[in-house]
Amino acid sequence: MATETNKFQAIISHCKEYGFIFPSSEIYDGLAAVYDYGQWGSELKKNIREYWWKSMTQLQDNIVGIDAAIFMHPTTWKASGHVDNFNDPMIDNKDSKKRYRVDHLIEGYAEKLKADGNTQKADELIAAMEALQSADDFAGLKKLIEEYKISCAVSGTCNWTDVRQFNLMFATEFGSTASSEDGDNKVYLRPETAQGIFVNFLNVQKTGRMKIPFGIAQVGKAFRNEIVARQFIFRMREFEQMEMQFFVRPGTEGEWYEYWKETRMKWHLSLGIPKEHYRFHDHVKLAHYAKAACDIEYEFPIGFKEVEGIHSRGDFDLSQHQQYSKKKMQYFDSETNQNYIPYVIETSIGLDRTVMMVLSEAYVEEDLSTPEKQDSRVVLKFPAKLAPIKLAILPLTKKDGLPEIGRSIMEECRSRFRCFYEEKDAIGKRYRRMDALGTPFCITIDHQTKEDNTVTIRYRDSMKQERIAINQIREIVENHIS
Ligand code: ATP
Repeated sequence: MATETNKFQAIISHCKEYGFIFPSSEIYDGLAAVYDYGQWGSELKKNIREYWWKSMTQLQDNIVGIDAAIFMHPTTWKASGHVDNFNDPMIDNKDSKKRYRVDHLIEGYAEKLKADGNTQKADELIAAMEALQSADDFAGLKKLIEEYKISCAVSGTCNWTDVRQFNLMFATEFGSTASSEDGDNKVYLRPETAQGIFVNFLNVQKTGRMKIPFGIAQVGKAFRNEIVARQFIFRMREFEQMEMQFFVRPGTEGEWYEYWKETRMKWHLSLGIPKEHYRFHDHVKLAHYAKAACDIEYEFPIGFKEVEGIHSRGDFDLSQHQQYSKKKMQYFDSETNQNYIPYVIETSIGLDRTVMMVLSEAYVEEDLSTPEKQDSRVVLKFPAKLAPIKLAILPLTKKDGLPEIGRSIMEECRSRFRCFYEEKDAIGKRYRRMDALGTPFCITIDHQTKEDNTVTIRYRDSMKQERIAINQIREIVENHIS
């Protein structure tokens, strides 16, 4: 049985063994912080993506989606502040040559202090760090690390370099190399999807005849050259974001910020995850664009960590694009008869982090031992709507016409939801395999099926089994996943 401390490792192994997530290009020993989703991981990820998309567009009156390109004009990133400001302070240990993000190094030490019962000292350390971060005081941060004698996990020494800034954007060459001499063909892989929304603000507003307040949503890949990237899909160099920018009348941003904090928390709770596993974390050091910001944190097996950010961005982005592009980014408000640059509330959630959250919540090791027999199972208790496979169809034997019945049930259900058909191995083994993949319903076809058109349905979480008519199967599954 995995303890809380090695649960994270157990989930990583489970993901690999059952076709959820593999290290990228594994046959070449992988690529740090890059992962591939396998046959069931990609289904899970797609279901989460669709669930978010539907809640944020289809079920809203005034939010539409777009799909902007990953490459954007390089000036975008000058205007957004990413060229100058998208940095993380980092520090290198001179003996081990290992590089750390300063906040991670200090936070890691504070966790250790807490674990040793020194909660007050840990809180003081975090407060001091946040004050120095807000003042961009890098010398002060180094002094703090030295004062607390925070050492490198590899060398064990406190022999640190100065704190330096490290830009997280990946750059590449665009088009023919002929123009590379003047350096104007450098483009970036977008570090966030938000800017694709801002540069299209007027296109969408005008063609969609959108009236403020309204939102634009987008799901897509983002790339960050993370300094420390060794937490599975929690921190990747290539990942996917699900972002929504909500444009509001200046002066109303406070109430919309609160509205989206609450609405997004409700979405999280709708995943069936209990309230105690979430918390809000208000930012002390605000990003260069932010007026107010908070994170929704989830209690991963590695502790409470950010899954989603909610940011009140003011008119920073649109104003910057107006200045750099020399195109007006204004909106005419017919209610107030005024032209203005709208303010923005952003909700930004990492898709991969959400996959990690859903997996962490779902992963359970159950002891099923009886006095007669030792037994256990690993089960992924996904909400049915997110499960990669909804229904497993399992004929008890490979003969006597049972597979034919199974195939016909498969034909009837597969256009509605993802089904899986299997006739190999003992039924108990097949159930365990479906538990490990998180399949909420299994049906077994046996000889009685031929007589009365009923099957046994087995529920993943309770392992309860009951007899139902074949013509009830579709409805039962659909009721659970809708
Ligand atoms: P962190 O502090 O963890 O680096 P961030 O505050 O830089 O995250 P944002 O820029 O607010 O993150 O991005 C929005 C969301 O995108 C985050 O809440 C997270 O879910 C996701 N995200 C950001 N960076 C990564 C990454 N390297 N790998 C996976 N997801 C990420």
